[in-house]
Amino acid sequence: MRLSEQFTKTRKTVPADETSRNAQLLIQAGYIHKELAGVYAYLPFGIQVLENIKSIVREEMNILGAQELLMTSLQRKELWEKTDRWSDKNVDIWFKTKLKNGSDVGLAWSHEEPVVDMMKSFVSSYRELPIAVYQIQTKFRNELRAKSGIMRGREFIMKDLYGFSRNDEELLEFYNKMQEAYLNIFERVGLGDITYVTYASGGAFTKFSHEFQVVTDAGEDTIYISKDKKLAINEEVYNDESLSQLDLMREELEKVKSAEVGNIFNFGSTKAEELGMHFTDESGQDKPVYISSYGLGITRLMGVITEHFSDDKGLAWPENIAPAKVYIARLGAGEQTINQADELYKLLEDARVTVIYDDRDVRAGEKFADADLLGIPYRIVISDKTVESGTIELKNRKESDSKQIQKDELLKMLGIVG
Ligand code: ATP
Ligand code: MG
Repeated sequence: MRLSEQFTKTRKTVPADETSRNAQLLIQAGYIHKELAGVYAYLPFGIQVLENIKSIVREEMNILGAQELLMTSLQRKELWEKTDRWSDKNVDIWFKTKLKNGSDVGLAWSHEEPVVDMMKSFVSSYRELPIAVYQIQTKFRNELRAKSGIMRGREFIMKDLYGFSRNDEELLEFYNKMQEAYLNIFERVGLGDITYVTYASGGAFTKFSHEFQVVTDAGEDTIYISKDKKLAINEEVYNDESLSQLDLMREELEKVKSAEVGNIFNFGSTKAEELGMHFTDESGQDKPVYISSYGLGITRLMGVITEHFSDDKGLAWPENIAPAKVYIARLGAGEQTINQADELYKLLEDARVTVIYDDRDVRAGEKFADADLLGIPYRIVISDKTVESGTIELKNRKESDSKQIQKDELLKMLGIVG
């Protein structure tokens, strides 16, 4: 896209009402807009980043045979009463409202109950199992504190997947595959080295649930990591009993701050028993379905990536997350310069290389500052000078020096010609 046509603008200064680095940077760079504390709109570049993250997540879910759907944001009170999770005493983050006829409805903060209730109408026999369904959808939570930018929203996007299995072994097999899928996701977004599978307080069935915690000072959690074993234990279950169960010793663990980006639960048969989800097994017997759930905060993950991949100049996205791969800064008003920049822009677009074309009539310093703030991996300069020398200037966002290269080399590097 041409930057001269983009309605969003970068800001010179950090927004004064934000304390979190991710929100400061994303607002300054024009990726998001703050509606109210913990509630953000996503602007064109922000959407692109979200879509890049979502497609990685989708690929890893689809490959395990999970089927995508979209549940509703308005939910029935009766359903949540069955599991005693309507009451504010048990779930203190509900947003609730009323229909015109006076009946209560809730705004979705999670979807176990509605998904299970819906799946009851599709599953009755062992032949229909196992199944996994998921969605990427907006959740509402009336969080007490929303000071972590998009890492803790009152309205945020979550990927939630629900697994339906015939028995414990089948559930565990799927659970282990999902753990691998989650690790693939973190690896692919560039956080593999600092992501820890973490033992945390349990679902209804097992003593522990598994969280996917990313080590970062921007996080709100405290965990104890073992770098050797590449696993961790959440502060909330850090006690002698848990440590001995997990065969861990205090001496091998290091205390760090972290952000919980994913959380997976094994409910065993309890959820199905509460909500009456049964199937007929091979021998004609009535059995409860074994249910597991797999949450991943899409917008929280974007926040963590923002925090991790940034420096004093702004954002610095990994290539597969960035809203565009290339930033062309056109400097100077010579006719040849304009033509050459226009041509390169068209060539890259035709080759489906995502590109931001800075065709604005502003100073070089401003263009460079924006290229850095926006965090685009490769900055190309076409100027009266480069036209004269027959080269193109290229700079990697993560390096401080630029180099002069030939157009052919550039196209090779971008994978356009072999
Ligand atoms: P937390 O302890 O951080 O409040 P949680 O344990 O309540 O999170 P889950 O119900 O397990 O969260 O939700 C699944 C995932 O959704 C979390 O692992 C996290 O990545 C994300 N998430 C939860 N709450 C928020 C929020 N308020 N804003 C953004 N993402 C969130
Ligand atoms: Mg959790």
